[in-house]
Amino acid sequence: MDQLDELYTALRETGYRLTPQRMMILDVIRHRTGHITAEQIHSAVVDTYPYLDISTVYRTLELLKDLHLISETKLGGGVTQYEYKVGKKPHHHLVCRKCGETISLGVQVLQPVEHLLLEEYGFQVDFDHLAIFGRCAHCL
Ligand SMILES: [Zn+2]
Ligand SMILES: [Zn+2]
Repeated sequence: MDQLDELYTALRETGYRLTPQRMMILDVIRHRTGHITAEQIHSAVVDTYPYLDISTVYRTLELLKDLHLISETKLGGGVTQYEYKVGKKPHHHLVCRKCGETISLGVQVLQPVEHLLLEEYGFQVDFDHLAIFGRCAHCL
């Protein structure tokens, strides 16, 4: 059984029906190395599945997010980006407000902040794929 079969089995066990649309949407996100928007997913799927409407894409994205298969982040410009996260290293991003450049950030960078918030505030943060805005070295 490969990784994908395992994934589909896990989905089925949680009681979700894997409609062809849902599988195609998940596939598009999986095969993307970086981030992708709902519109980009829609236009990729609509080539082979013309009856797919954008609201189905959004509903499926909500479902995949609840199942912890994808992460959702706003990386600027008011656009929400999605990324497949199974088997991928957790990471955050630095986003330049001026040129739009995004830089990957290892999760260890924010770990001291997580510890501090837990110790000082008793607050357990849920840092999952954050976007931190500012200016990149080039634009400074
Ligand atoms: Zn990312
Ligand atoms: Zn910049």
